[in-house]
Amino acid sequence: MRRVVIVGYGMAGARLADELRRRDSDISITVVGAEPHAAYNRVLLSTVVAGSMTPESTRLHDDRWAAEHDIDLRLGYEVREIDRASRTVTVAQVPRGAVSTPSDPAESFPYDALVLATGSVPWVPPAEGLVEDGRLAPGVVAFRTLDDCAEIEAKAHKGAPVAVLGGGLLGIEAARGLAGRGCLVTVVHPVGHLMERQLDPGAGSVLARTLGKLGIEFRLNAMAAKYLPGDGLILDDGSRVPAELVVVSAGVRAETSLAVKAGVTVDRGIVVDDALRTSDPRIHAIGDCAQHPGTVSGLVQPAWDQAAVLADRLTGANPAARYRGTSVVTRLKARDVDLAALGDVHTDVDCPDSEVLCFQEPSRGRYAKLVLRDDRVAGAIVLGAPDAAATITQLYDRGIPAPTDRLALLLGRALPAEAASPADLPSSAVICRCNTVSKGQIVSAWRAGAESLPQLAEATRATTGCGGCKDAVCGLIDWLGASQPASA
Ligand SMILES: Cc1cc2nc3c(=O)[nH]c(=O)nc-3n(C[C@H](O)[C@H](O)[C@H](O)COP(=O)(O)OP(=O)(O)OC[C@H]3O[C@@H](n4cnc5c(N)ncnc54)[C@H](O)[C@@H]3O)c2cc1C
Repeated sequence: MRRVVIVGYGMAGARLADELRRRDSDISITVVGAEPHAAYNRVLLSTVVAGSMTPESTRLHDDRWAAEHDIDLRLGYEVREIDRASRTVTVAQVPRGAVSTPSDPAESFPYDALVLATGSVPWVPPAEGLVEDGRLAPGVVAFRTLDDCAEIEAKAHKGAPVAVLGGGLLGIEAARGLAGRGCLVTVVHPVGHLMERQLDPGAGSVLARTLGKLGIEFRLNAMAAKYLPGDGLILDDGSRVPAELVVVSAGVRAETSLAVKAGVTVDRGIVVDDALRTSDPRIHAIGDCAQHPGTVSGLVQPAWDQAAVLADRLTGANPAARYRGTSVVTRLKARDVDLAALGDVHTDVDCPDSEVLCFQEPSRGRYAKLVLRDDRVAGAIVLGAPDAAATITQLYDRGIPAPTDRLALLLGRALPAEAASPADLPSSAVICRCNTVSKGQIVSAWRAGAESLPQLAEATRATTGCGGCKDAVCGLIDWLGASQPASA
């Protein structure tokens, strides 16, 4: 029997364990997870900070999962070392709290295949005082784990001045959530516009204006130089940002320390090929910690696609399976702000081999940019126009030609016949991006008796994130009720 050891019980590790067991009831699976919690949907932490979801409702597995699936789960344990020659890992309990309690002695686990799913860790800007004795200073919290959320919640009282370091996707989500709790939020961002990875300057400025109306302040082109506990931040231009709480959301770095120690090849992440193999063919890496050519890391969909490919290979279900990359759609999960960004958004309007359309109405918080190549959507930014976002995302996901009336498409008034009906969506189309729920899963749950929106939400988790997919799920319910299709 093959022994698979998975390092990391986050979104990639948990999914891999599920995929392995689904394909093979005999394979031996050990999962080692450093966090003290059962795996949870990290994507939903912004919703927890905003107060619209409880930590419990983000869980991916219940307490019975490991026993029911015959998985040796070591919760609150970490892999400290990999011995590649003897193919064993050393596992020990993670020390918790200020007072250290005697922990269990380290154990050795043999493996035939080892999978590193160690995720990533927050990057902390090099401002004086943010880190003390190797830890974040009191009043400074990262935004990565459920424990971070609990710490943020405890300090984020109404009227509290809060500084958020970083105006990327997560920083904006944290800022919106905290402003919704009544905190006085200032976002400090080193670039001239928000979310520069996903947005062009025009969209960034419309987004800042929209968020400004919701009470959030911005310091762009600025960096924190010094943290004064209980007082706030001094920025590099000498100005001050008052803050009782500083939330660090300035980017992440792949967690590669185990791989480095074991002599496995590491660049920005743990380097893997299309078979998700590292430089040691017995060791694999998936998720945020892995670096696959051409894949944007730091997003969940690539991690889950990689888990499926690796499960095919490790169980022998499809030894020829290869991971070729994932096209990703980014959605901001922030109340009252609807934003989707996908594909190549940085192409200029005068680029000769692309058709680029732009529309903006800053006073109403609307901005749309569409990049077309060979009549197909190659990239888009859609802010404040959910109908346009839904249609354009469908066109992008399915790779079908855009309708000839481009303006109507940009304004959300074009529903191309082939994209309008849920019947025409492929079963694999992702309906709920927060929970990665496909049309096929919704159809299966409906057929199993979950016929109403709350029942489907309970069965599949669709709509329980940002809620942006509610209309699409209702559309599927109507279609299923009306047609009771034999195959979907
Ligand atoms: C607030 C927030 C919002 C996000 N929103 C989105 C979004 O909208 N869309 C999107 O696509 N992505 C989003 N992401 C990113 C997404 O959550 C990650 O891409 C995803 O979690 C990656 O999964 P992973 O398993 O690789 O890493 P993780 O989920 O981070 O899991 C890694 C796990 O490995 C554990 N670990 C590390 N080292 C060891 C060790 N030596 N031994 C044992 N365990 C170890 C860690 O403790 C952790 O539990 C968001 C992230 C955050 C924090």
